[in-house]
Amino acid sequence: MARKTVFQTLSKLSQMGDVTLHEPAGDSPQSERKRRSRKQEFNLNDCIAHLSTPRGPKAVMKSMMTTACERNCNYCVFRAGRAKTKRVTFSPDEMASAFQTLEGSGKVDGLFLSSGIIKGSVTTQDKLIDTADIIRNKQRYPGYIHLKIMPGIEYDQLYRSMQLADRVSVNLEAPTSERLAALAPKKIFIEELLRMLQWAEQIRRDHQNEKLASSVTQFVVGAVGDTDLELLSMSDKLYSQANLARVYYSAFGPVPGTPFEHLPATEAIREFRLYQSSFLLRDYRWDVEELPFLRSGNLRTDVDPKQAWADEHLLHQPIEVMTAEREQLLRIPGVGPVGADAIIRSRRRGALTELIHLRRIGIRTPHRLAKYVLLDGKQPVRQLKLF
Ligand code: SF4
Repeated sequence: MARKTVFQTLSKLSQMGDVTLHEPAGDSPQSERKRRSRKQEFNLNDCIAHLSTPRGPKAVMKSMMTTACERNCNYCVFRAGRAKTKRVTFSPDEMASAFQTLEGSGKVDGLFLSSGIIKGSVTTQDKLIDTADIIRNKQRYPGYIHLKIMPGIEYDQLYRSMQLADRVSVNLEAPTSERLAALAPKKIFIEELLRMLQWAEQIRRDHQNEKLASSVTQFVVGAVGDTDLELLSMSDKLYSQANLARVYYSAFGPVPGTPFEHLPATEAIREFRLYQSSFLLRDYRWDVEELPFLRSGNLRTDVDPKQAWADEHLLHQPIEVMTAEREQLLRIPGVGPVGADAIIRSRRRGALTELIHLRRIGIRTPHRLAKYVLLDGKQPVRQLKLF
């Protein structure tokens, strides 16, 4: 592509601003969002996000093939007919050359590519695939690519997307068909979304010798009465049945000029508690029924879910650190997989009798767990001897 044309493409990219603000893609979605500003003038840096990816921390170009869309999701800044949205569209060649320029200049090492839907999902997905194909096969870029999957695409398109990308997102948006109908009237929960995630897992199973993308999803939290129980029950199913790498929770925020503009925003703390609970399901193998839901179906926002569970179950039945199984150790607030393994290694060498012993093996906040454990048969003294 001629120099002038590349310059025009980059200028177009910079006009888009931070179009993927509501689509987290890394391992720290909350800090990812906080780092962004709300200024009126956009520049090229707005489409660069610093993410923790499966290939390590990276500066990633986050963009969309088009900010036009024929669908009408009630919360979305790009919904059809929203007059305030500036519509910008790229061809696959343009998008690939913009990426090549930024990657070649060392500004980014990774791509997250999404799109509004124009002329149907199949046509739109073809554009995403064509872009990734140019980047992988013409430009020979071997690095990180994360592609969005449009609702209801064909099986072969999903397979091709998974061959080209490291990660694919199929955003369910809501935990049930009814909630989705309220959020996004033109999306079909099972046929267009859930099926994509099931196919992705099937494709990985059928092609075990190929390097294929992992899959993730995202929920919009709190706009249509969805409960934490609904969101986490669906997350649990997706982790166990569709082998999802992770689930994102995006606290709803009202966008002017949309049908939901007058709804209250969801508190960030609710999103945070959902992430904490989701990790208990995925990494600690908790059952969803063990999470401390209130009668409303939501979690308490004032306390970490692991601590709420421990207050209910461990205060009168503390865990003996010297003999507990790894799974039991992981139930103790302040003990993660690394801490549990350190305890197991260390207790083989001698008794752990004081909180300071736990601090020495890397448990950073041993005072937090004092009331939930026994150390060699005794309740630990909470006063830490630091020196
Ligand atoms: S399909 Fe995507 S881009 Fe289009 S309105 Fe819905 S959420 Fe927005």
